[in-house]
Amino acid sequence: MFKKFLSLIAALIVVISLASCSNSSSTNDKKLKVAVSFNAMKELTYAIGKNKINIVTIIPNGTEPHDFDPKAKDIKTLYDSKIFIYSGLGMETWVDKTLKSVNNKDLISVEASNGVKAIKNSDASEIAEHGKYDPHSWLSLNDAKIESKNIRDALTKADPTNKKFYYDNYNEFCKKVDSLNQEYVDKFRTVKNKDFVTGHAAFAYLCRDYNLNQKSVENVFADGEPSTKQLADLTKYCKDNNVKTVFYEDMVSPKVSSTLAKEVNAKTQKIYTIESAEDGKDYLASMKTDLDEIYTSLK
Ligand SMILES: [Zn+2]
Repeated sequence: MFKKFLSLIAALIVVISLASCSNSSSTNDKKLKVAVSFNAMKELTYAIGKNKINIVTIIPNGTEPHDFDPKAKDIKTLYDSKIFIYSGLGMETWVDKTLKSVNNKDLISVEASNGVKAIKNSDASEIAEHGKYDPHSWLSLNDAKIESKNIRDALTKADPTNKKFYYDNYNEFCKKVDSLNQEYVDKFRTVKNKDFVTGHAAFAYLCRDYNLNQKSVENVFADGEPSTKQLADLTKYCKDNNVKTVFYEDMVSPKVSSTLAKEVNAKTQKIYTIESAEDGKDYLASMKTDLDEIYTSLK
């Protein structure tokens, strides 16, 4: 009797879980399917699409996005999606080739940075290896507004019924961006020191917004540790400019940052490139932390 009861319970659990399973997939089926290249695109897209869309991020968190190659399952993701959002400016070198091999003629693909005033790379070997431009435009609040406008327009094109929803979310997002931006325009204006040192040179667009300068232990595309000479130059730079904080990123040579910090008697502080999701922070929370930590280090 007891055994029969147990098997009845087990059967019930199976039925319930099957029901809830098919339920959730049918809700998901109604949502607009959006593929994005990496975490920053996910954050900006979520800010506009919220619960009306179903986002799949192609580059997994914790993977170095500057040297990523798509797999068969990523082609399948793009085949199943309505929209594909990538940042562009050479961040996702695999896009053109990959899109050619995806048999989905209805896919709306969007280069989010379209319309951003691109910053050119200055290092010759970097240009040869990665192309003309620095891709990190999403780390500028001003440029994030351009990117999220492109995202808004793509979502609206694919799903015109929810146009008002996407426009409202975009306007609300821009309001928050503007207020955070103005706060730091005012703050950075008050500091004399404008130089900071970080892991990889991801902050040129942020620097442009506030007249700051970055130095980094790795180049724009986060490949290769610095040579002894580069490290000696950085040490001198830190001492000359009274740098008291050396920033580091989870995926980029935290050891080099900490070696440098010890050498110049500075502290280390984590900074977010938003290339991967970290510490449960969304786009604005990560940007606020970055701006605040950079400002604190310059005060
Ligand atoms: Zn980067």
